[in-house]
Amino acid sequence: MNSSIADNVARVRAQIQAACQASGRAPDSVQLLAVSKTWGPDAVRQAHAAGQTAFGENYIQEAVDKITALRDLPLQWHCIGPIQSNKTRLVAEHFDWVHSVDRLKIAQRLSEQRPPELPPLQVCIQVNIDGGENKSGVSPQELPALAQAVAALPRLQLRGLMTIPEPAETEAQMRAVHARAQALFEALRQQGFPLDTLSMGMSADMAAAIAEGSTMVRVGTAIFGQR
Ligand SMILES: *Cc1c(COP(=O)(O)O)cnc(C)c1O
Repeated sequence: MNSSIADNVARVRAQIQAACQASGRAPDSVQLLAVSKTWGPDAVRQAHAAGQTAFGENYIQEAVDKITALRDLPLQWHCIGPIQSNKTRLVAEHFDWVHSVDRLKIAQRLSEQRPPELPPLQVCIQVNIDGGENKSGVSPQELPALAQAVAALPRLQLRGLMTIPEPAETEAQMRAVHARAQALFEALRQQGFPLDTLSMGMSADMAAAIAEGSTMVRVGTAIFGQR
């Protein structure tokens, strides 16, 4: 990687602003989540020095070590990877957000295990938007019932939806998939769920996701380099 992490953060922020402008959205309507999986605490410190405070992690134990090593910084940690039942306690105790809730059992454990002195865990439900067979995520058909059950859990606050679409060939195809996620998000809001977060878009499909209503893009490679 030739450019510094600070340069990369600035460039990605500028790309987000440009994408917002291109689709007539307010420049502050899309948050940047820096995905720091596989990168060490030093890389996170560099991104923080460039003004980045929200970080996403996939691997629970790796993340907990990093979160602990960075306790001196005011960072916000988002779990974006698959969660096994035996890892829910670590997630409930260390993270601020979870994007990857896709089963009631996991949500119930997170709620039960959230320490009382911490604020409610902020959660998104992961939706399998393009029906990939081996993918995590609840189906669009099962989403309303899961949303209802998650919203009722005392120590979770349901904030929205998260998607990880398959890579598409064209911009139009990418946008069509993102538009389906946005429609599900809007339908839940119409039903009265107070949702404000649509977590979609990564390094490769950020602009398409923003054009279709994403409120949080999760960017790893474009900030930290190839893993
Ligand atoms: C790794 C990862 C990202 C970041 O992907 P990049 O292509 O590196 O930007 C975003 N979301 C999830 C769920 C991931 O696992």
